[in-house]
Amino acid sequence: MTDWTKYVAFKGPVVMIGFGSIGKGSLPLILRHIGLDPSQVTVVTPEAEGRAIAEEMGVAYIQQAITPENMAATLDPLLGEAGGFIVNLSVEVSSVDLMRYAASKKALYIDTCIEPWPGGYTDASLSLSERSNYALREGMLALRKELGASSSTAVVTHGANPGMVSHFVKQALMNLAADKGQAAAAPTTREGWGQLARDLGVKGIHIAERDTQVTQGGKPKDIFYNTWSIDGFISEGLQPAELGWGSFEGELPFDGAEHDYGCGAAIYLKRPGAATRVRTWTPKAGSVIGFLITHSEAISISDYFTLRDESGRAFYRPTCHYAYHPSDAAVLSVHEMEGNAMTPQPTFHLMNDDIVEGIDELGVLLYGHDRNAYWYGSQLSIEEARKLAPYQNATGLQVTSAVLSGMVWAIENPERGVTEPDEMDFARCLEIQMPYLGPVVGEYSDWTPVQGRGELFPEDIDREEPWRFKNVIVR
Ligand code: NAD
Repeated sequence: MTDWTKYVAFKGPVVMIGFGSIGKGSLPLILRHIGLDPSQVTVVTPEAEGRAIAEEMGVAYIQQAITPENMAATLDPLLGEAGGFIVNLSVEVSSVDLMRYAASKKALYIDTCIEPWPGGYTDASLSLSERSNYALREGMLALRKELGASSSTAVVTHGANPGMVSHFVKQALMNLAADKGQAAAAPTTREGWGQLARDLGVKGIHIAERDTQVTQGGKPKDIFYNTWSIDGFISEGLQPAELGWGSFEGELPFDGAEHDYGCGAAIYLKRPGAATRVRTWTPKAGSVIGFLITHSEAISISDYFTLRDESGRAFYRPTCHYAYHPSDAAVLSVHEMEGNAMTPQPTFHLMNDDIVEGIDELGVLLYGHDRNAYWYGSQLSIEEARKLAPYQNATGLQVTSAVLSGMVWAIENPERGVTEPDEMDFARCLEIQMPYLGPVVGEYSDWTPVQGRGELFPEDIDREEPWRFKNVIVR
């Protein structure tokens, strides 16, 4: 048996809510690297299908959906009075309600997405602004205020993205500084990080991902294929596209709008992310077109790096958004769904054991500085992922290793209140994740979103500032 590094010990009960692609993949990593006994862990999830996997690992399994009505009654006996850990890897269980409950039990908490209760993403009676990730994040920020800065730690949105990519941004800034001959200690404050990004000339950041994992035979008709939660992908794809809106951008996109509340770091577009395409670049794929799917990190990263003057006016903020080229089968699935007026297919298929090759190239592209663009991220292949850990593909392992690092950080820092990835120790989290990320590389590029354009057809291109969002979005 391998002698796995135990990063930290945990003595209390651990309750994992949801046991889908991320839950199944996270459990073996938790048991490997956190000093606890499997008998301390209980999975609570509505489907029967994961029972054998959980029980094989020595973990109790309760087949039960969490609802607003049964949440406390179900979790109370599992958690006891104090000192447990809620690991929320479900869909459609409110993160904010669970975090409030966890704080009341003095339990630690982690999730990988701010989830609402069922219907929250697609409730047509809500305004676009109200069913945005901006609104979900503002709800989380209000809870943080309500619970106070030293309530038990609740790590929110700590998967790969959102999550790990916030740590990549900081590491990429350190690398950029070192490559410019300005190596210095990592900043220790939010302002310090904002100043570093501004001094380096970073205008914006893409979370630039190209997933090339494929299954034998391709996608059949009427089945939605994806390498992670199909419920999750469809839900966020049907929210309005959102992006952190940088100080260098100028006028809003033609269908863009600002929120009339909250931190002001982001805007939304009046269309779904699943129908919004943007240009980006990753080292292995080169120039790609991805979806501008809304994600919490687009807002939190832009907010975190914002610099304000004494009057509170933001004078520096990087643009930030997701540019996601999922697996080819998932792209076809989105295309098919869009053709059917955004009605999801009747059947979903998680690509996992049937994947025959491919990598998930997931990183951050820092652009607009004097070396143009710098991508930093993971290029994990399906083959390597399978060697490293069971029950997951390359996409999953990038997420589950972040669940592990977030849990370790929370146990090491138990009274930090509700905490976003941007506020955590990036070096500690990356140290724990690195063995699971395959090649992690930094690469410069001379690519810009205007490269090669405007020759065959007339296009309204802003040549003066190639990196403006106007040039990035596919209109
Ligand atoms: P999945 O669809 O494979 O699994 C979801 C699980 O939640 C299933 O076990 C399902 O039965 C369970 N569930 C549904 N309703 C429930 C309820 N009422 N009570 C308890 N459990 C319930 O999803 P996944 O791929 O494992 O993703 C899980 C979460 O992680 C989602 O929120 C997803 O958006 C998020 N995610 C985040 C990242 C990231 O990088 N941050 C990446 C992938 C997934």
